[in-house]
Amino acid sequence: MRLSANWNLIFRTVCLALVKPGQPFRSEHDYRRAETGGTPGSNPDRAFLLAFGHPVVEQHLARRVRAAQISSIARLTPFTILANVVNTFVIAVTFQKFLPFSYLATWIAAIAALLGYTLLKWVRAKKSPVQLASRRSLNKAVQHATVFSLLWAVVPITAFAAGDPDGIWIAACVSTGMLCGGGFALATVPQAAFRWVAILYVSSLVSLVIGQSHALWPLFLLLTSYTLVVLGSVASSGWLFASHFLAEAELEQRGELIALLLNEFEEKASDWIWETDSRGFFRSVSDRFVHASGQKRPALEIMRMVDLAYSLDEPDARSAVAGLEEVMSSRRAFRDIVIGVEIAGEERWWSLAARPVHDDHGSFTGYRGVASDITEARRASALVSHLAEHDSLTGIGNRSWFLKQAETLMAQQSQFAENALTLFLIDLDNFKVVNDTSGHPAGDELLRQVAARFTSLSEGGTILARFGGDEFAALGQFVSDEAALAFAEELVNVARKPFRIGRRDFAIGATVGFTCFRDRGDTVDDLMRKSDIALYKAKESGRGRALAFENEMEREVRERRELEADLREAFEYEKLNVEFQPIVDARSGKVVSSEVLLRWLHPTRGDVAPDTFIPIAEHAGLILPLGAWVLKKACAAAAQCPELESVAVNLSPVQFMDPNLVEHVMTVLRETGFPPERLVLEITESVFLRDFGSAACKLQKLRDQGIRIALDDFGTGYSSLSYLRQYKFDKIKIDKSFVDEIGERSDGLAIISAIIALAHNLGLEVTAEGVERQFQVDALRTLGCDTLQGYYFGRPASNPVQIAQIRKEDWEDRSPSTAPKDPGNMQSAS
Ligand code: C2E
Ligand code: CA
Ligand code: CA
Repeated sequence: MRLSANWNLIFRTVCLALVKPGQPFRSEHDYRRAETGGTPGSNPDRAFLLAFGHPVVEQHLARRVRAAQISSIARLTPFTILANVVNTFVIAVTFQKFLPFSYLATWIAAIAALLGYTLLKWVRAKKSPVQLASRRSLNKAVQHATVFSLLWAVVPITAFAAGDPDGIWIAACVSTGMLCGGGFALATVPQAAFRWVAILYVSSLVSLVIGQSHALWPLFLLLTSYTLVVLGSVASSGWLFASHFLAEAELEQRGELIALLLNEFEEKASDWIWETDSRGFFRSVSDRFVHASGQKRPALEIMRMVDLAYSLDEPDARSAVAGLEEVMSSRRAFRDIVIGVEIAGEERWWSLAARPVHDDHGSFTGYRGVASDITEARRASALVSHLAEHDSLTGIGNRSWFLKQAETLMAQQSQFAENALTLFLIDLDNFKVVNDTSGHPAGDELLRQVAARFTSLSEGGTILARFGGDEFAALGQFVSDEAALAFAEELVNVARKPFRIGRRDFAIGATVGFTCFRDRGDTVDDLMRKSDIALYKAKESGRGRALAFENEMEREVRERRELEADLREAFEYEKLNVEFQPIVDARSGKVVSSEVLLRWLHPTRGDVAPDTFIPIAEHAGLILPLGAWVLKKACAAAAQCPELESVAVNLSPVQFMDPNLVEHVMTVLRETGFPPERLVLEITESVFLRDFGSAACKLQKLRDQGIRIALDDFGTGYSSLSYLRQYKFDKIKIDKSFVDEIGERSDGLAIISAIIALAHNLGLEVTAEGVERQFQVDALRTLGCDTLQGYYFGRPASNPVQIAQIRKEDWEDRSPSTAPKDPGNMQSAS
């Protein structure tokens, strides 16, 4: 044992016990060495020191150890008294022959008094056993033993000194017996035992010397060896006693700690301990468990955990209980198994952990484990994932959830390809109107209603999501392309029906682009891109419709992108040009105005029509600088031609929507020094389709500056007449398609005639566009059209006033113009 390595400590401890029992070492260092020498509590040095009364443990424990030491001696009191009485009697009988009575009587009286005291102490201790003992009580015990041993030490010395052979025999036996017996009886208090043994040993030695025995040396050897054996045994049993105590104390401490932890555990409302027998039935059911399970105790005691888990009829719970059954039947330890239970009609979720328990023979006796109610945590995490996957406004899925689902569905689709997975992108039309005119709460409500309508269509496996703003998406499997188209058209149709918000009805609409997953190499991104292209095409061709993706579209889009890049470059490097197309007075045949038209000569494609590149410029955000550039060019050129009454410039709807339009136009006029009265801005009625209330105001502001406004392409829209009354213009331009009908359709002339009459009634000047033939000129002049424009007079060219030569007779003879001199005056006259 490790103790044997520490002879120095043993020696010093023993010496101190002999000289000054109960006295601690002077230096703290010795104790620290003992403390750090091994694991606390079971350290042999500590136990040894503790046995000798050294302060190596905390005060309370030290007091308990001392009490235990004292009471273990006290337990032997009846035997020690008996031994003392017998010995005293034998000594009295033997010694009365040679010892004066007074000496003997004194000695017997002293022994008797001490025995009486011992008995008294013993009786007291029996009545109220000591639990804690001070260092003084231990010292008293040591002194008690010292006094006793001194009384007995007198015996051999007296006998040897008297030289009585019987006395010597008896004294030798009694001394040896007392040395050994007392030593063992006092072993739990080594200090007392050492004192006892040492005193008796010394007195025996003294006796041997006094008696001058012939066998001095053999007797000395025997005596010394006995003494050493007794001392060794005392040290060892004292150490064992203290070790025992230390281990016990440590166990107790651990037990307290565990009890403390368990208490806390039991008090924590969400966790409890459960136990089963070998068949899985609950046993030792705690109150907390009874409470948590919502069952009556007797019912719970004839149940198994799986019976509880079967109470919830839910797919998640079903699969969980199967897992639990499997692991419990295999008698393995487990943790984090989540089961669902129904408690008082409510769905709750428990997380279980348990270990199998075995008896001493190693046979399985059941499970012991912990259960925690994790219902709230589960709900919270479900809510978090719901929020992460859903659109908070409409409650349907969000973009990232949709794309994840799409990925999964596409992966499955590759294996079973009988039905085509189809992805729809849906864009609401005119949603902005609702937001702008009725505020965002109305817009939000509208989105909710739209989502509800789409959801009602999407039942049966089609998933739906809102991507943000007024964009939605759907994904589903359809037996055929026709079925997919039918679904897309249904989406358009439900969005077309009016939505009631508050007391107002809103007519919006939806445009849908979709694509079927046919090409196995396609990813979700490809599907999204293709649907987006189809949506773009659908919007371009008039909104409110559904369009399926076609490969052709992709080529168009690619081309468009290339064109866009080329257009940027052309604009940046001033490769664009303008041409002018003269506008001729129908009465005089003179050029009165000229329309500026943008031209782009592409290095490889040749002439690109403005009908192609203007929408690209609009889309690319190029139209504002481009429009400003055209305006500047037009004003600068017209300023050089004083004979021109005016110059006409086209404004795209995007330009018209620019909130700073009026300022921009005025800046250009100021910079070029061109008078506003000579500028005509041409707008189309598509401007009013997207009008959210500011168009009329903007028109008024422009007209207030003196600028004139022409309504271009008149007659191509469907409600032109109402616009004419709603907004203030200065002139209208009859679209080429009407002019083309002159001579083609019987009512062609009648329509133009009606338009001219109406315009004149409203005080508007009328220009006919796309005039190519002589008979068209004749007819238009007859009908009273004010100005004419078209290839008949000249193609667009760099010179704003140059027109084709017109033969005088063609102009004057054929059909004199009936156009009024001043349409504005005409109206005021009517
Ligand atoms: P628009 O304003 O209706 O311009 C008249 C278009 O008809 C011009 O086509 C012109 O060349 C063409 N045209 C004129 N007379 C005849 C004719 O007798 N027969 C035929 N077949 N065509 C005739 P262009 O130059 O291709 O312009 C097309 C459209 O592009 C214009 O229609 C206008 O809306 C737009 N555009 C042209 N330049 C600009 C511009 O600078 N800014 C804006 N925003 N749009 C422009
Ligand atoms: Ca025009
Ligand atoms: Ca036009």
